Amino acid sequence: MTRPADSDVQKIRAAVLRRRGGPMKAESLEMEGPRHDEVLVRIVASGICHTDIRYVDDWYEDSDGAVILGHEGAGVVERVGAAVTGVRHGDHVVLSFQSCGHCLPCRSRHPTDCESIYDLNFGFRRLDGSNALIRSRVRGHFFGQSSFSTHVLATERNLVKVPKDLPLEMLAPLGCGLQTGAGTVMNSLAVPAGASIAIFGTGGVGLAAVMAARIVGANPIIGVDRVPSRLKLAMELGATHVIDTRREGVTDGIRAATGGGVDYVVESTGDNRLYRLAVVLLNPKGTAAYIAGENGPSSLPGGRRALSIVQGDAVPQVFIPRLIEFYREGLFPLDRIEKFYDFGQINRAIADARCGRAIKPVLRVSEA
Ligand SMILES: [Zn+2]
Ligand SMILES: [Zn+2]
Repeated sequence: MTRPADSDVQKIRAAVLRRRGGPMKAESLEMEGPRHDEVLVRIVASGICHTDIRYVDDWYEDSDGAVILGHEGAGVVERVGAAVTGVRHGDHVVLSFQSCGHCLPCRSRHPTDCESIYDLNFGFRRLDGSNALIRSRVRGHFFGQSSFSTHVLATERNLVKVPKDLPLEMLAPLGCGLQTGAGTVMNSLAVPAGASIAIFGTGGVGLAAVMAARIVGANPIIGVDRVPSRLKLAMELGATHVIDTRREGVTDGIRAATGGGVDYVVESTGDNRLYRLAVVLLNPKGTAAYIAGENGPSSLPGGRRALSIVQGDAVPQVFIPRLIEFYREGLFPLDRIEKFYDFGQINRAIADARCGRAIKPVLRVSEA
């Protein structure tokens, strides 16, 4: 293996996970400069998403090694490889999931179905097996970024150029959580005006689904959660009804709102009981969208359907600019669900997300 020339080495500071459950600790590391198709991005901010927290909890020393998580990065382009044409030094970018660009789904503009989606996003390496972090055994490339770091290597496939007049720290969570919630309603389900929808879980993903449901004109929009402060926010962001599962049955609450079942359910909790209930509550021809992990049941009566959602079936370069336009029009007030932390407070931010004190924590990694 040839080592890169020292002039091509980027010193970085990253939050490294070396222990199951955390905490992550700040370490100084070295990273290769960008390859011909890569973009070196200085990270200004990064959202924290439930997938990051799940990796902290499920981390295994033997199989995983030390890793850098983070997949809602936003920052400024520092350097680009020779083959990169879409961005240049100084551009502001939001990072999203990675896809290969070569397989049939990618070529048909369905990158969420990319044949290499698992390896590219959860493999902690490039597709050729290499790792840009040098002189250490820490691995990066999580979602083609590992944004809990001052610098990352991304590609044009997983970055989206964004306007410079909006704060990068506000835009960061668009790359995963908010795209997923809004994309589920607008792309995967294509919910029409006047349809009834229940959104199980009003965390960051669920609240993005609530905002999108209001934009498309769904009615009623029923938020379901067990944290009263999140339900209050759901009402402010577009829910017409809310069900507090600690005080009220979901079936009864939905019947009270619709007179029967519901046309669409977005299940974002991963809770076993709600998972099963999602399809039971559907009207004939209704669809349940499962965001948190496993697939829904496969055969359902009455033309009902269950979908398993990846990133809201979004093409990030198309969908994220659309969400930014909705923000400008006051229709997608993502800043209402964000809470900001210094990079050094990453473990506290995760603790706050776990207990519901923060809906969408965002780390301030460096000066914009
Ligand atoms: Zn995520
Ligand atoms: Zn692909």
